[in-house]
Amino acid sequence: MSILIKNGHVANASEDYTADVYIEGEKIIAIGANLNYKADKTIDATGKVVIPGGIDPHVHLDMPFMGTFSSDDYTTGTRAALFGGTTMVIDFILQTQGDSLYNALRTWQKKSAGKALGDYSYHMAVTDFNDNTAKEVVDMIEKEGITSFKTFMAYKGALMIDDGQMVQLMKVVKDNGGMVTVHATNGDMIDSMIAKNRSLGNRAPLYHYLSQPEVTEAEASARFTDMLNYTGCKGYIVHLTCEGALNAVREATKRNQTVNVETCIQYLVLDASLYQQDFDGAKWVMSPPLREKKDQEALWAGINQGLVKVVATDHCPFTWEQKQMGKDDFSKIPNGHPAIEHRMELLFSEGVNKNRITLPKFVELTSTNAAKLFGMYPRKGNIGIGADADIVIINPKKTHVISAKTHNMNTDYSGYEGFEVTGKTETVLMRGKVAIENDKCLIEPGYGQFVRRSKVS
Ligand SMILES: [Zn+2]
Repeated sequence: MSILIKNGHVANASEDYTADVYIEGEKIIAIGANLNYKADKTIDATGKVVIPGGIDPHVHLDMPFMGTFSSDDYTTGTRAALFGGTTMVIDFILQTQGDSLYNALRTWQKKSAGKALGDYSYHMAVTDFNDNTAKEVVDMIEKEGITSFKTFMAYKGALMIDDGQMVQLMKVVKDNGGMVTVHATNGDMIDSMIAKNRSLGNRAPLYHYLSQPEVTEAEASARFTDMLNYTGCKGYIVHLTCEGALNAVREATKRNQTVNVETCIQYLVLDASLYQQDFDGAKWVMSPPLREKKDQEALWAGINQGLVKVVATDHCPFTWEQKQMGKDDFSKIPNGHPAIEHRMELLFSEGVNKNRITLPKFVELTSTNAAKLFGMYPRKGNIGIGADADIVIINPKKTHVISAKTHNMNTDYSGYEGFEVTGKTETVLMRGKVAIENDKCLIEPGYGQFVRRSKVS
């Protein structure tokens, strides 16, 4: 199968220009003005934006959490992602404390085998670091193509490792060419505030927010940054939400240290005023919680300053019925919200169309930087000769309204209900196959492949 995309506004992280793109099989073969190829299919992209497929490096599909499972599996999750222009996701494997990384890997391989429509990889969450884990970390990098290791500074007794384990893990990961990523919040402080609020009878979703103030994230981000500096390990802070945490990273630049920062679309476009209602606020119960307007401004500035490198989702959907588990107690509300489908359109609308960011910056944030940081560039994350033909064609002027009635995620509410966005994903190619066209998905579960990742240079 060959495809010729004609006359589109092609954008990479480095530049944008008008060109044709020619694809054969799964790869991009040629890029240039007025290409003279006879293709099986020609797409007229005049007036459209042509970008590399989105990479969402922070999703949770079919994940066990708080006594239930996130409601999108590899099929529904990657399918919804494609509708919004995300052609690849990186999911998180969770090691069970007391068990091995390999057992966890096998569990996630079963969840994903034959089910994904888009491509995928895994981060390995290390929740129990010991001598055996250290050996397995090396095997993950060398044998399995899993080069990033997630850590939690919160959720004691379930996911958290202590600072001693963190430093030892960083040393092993550094010596073997990997990256340590982190959920950076001070778990002890948060646990004490949750306990205090519950004992006072403060059980509404608002108290989820009030139990995780900015300082808990700023403190942990600074501590993680210092431990990276001490060990020389490469690091990445996931879902950074606030000015205080960003300032910790900014401070580190003064000693010429680079710490990679991801934020998520919700922290750019939603704020904590959504918690000022009764149980409906449970829709946005996630950790860290939504923050203030001033934090949104700090994050947009951090993007343009080059401090925030990736906009992900932390997609972890639950149905409204699942959220009822916390009807009488905010601490029992499953944490997470659905966003995998709308990350790119929301960022395009709020970022590019509102002149907060340029089109190349949009590509950097949604695709290229994730590909580079996680060992997939230049196969993924750019429109370049020899790259995978994961390509998204956006109509930049078309408006539409987000609603649970029309979205493709397996959940019955939307955190963005009624949001009007300008810029619509119209066509998506997934390794050279037309995956989305005319609002229909044309590929089947099993098309998506596991992507082995390179060491982090
Ligand atoms: Zn997450």
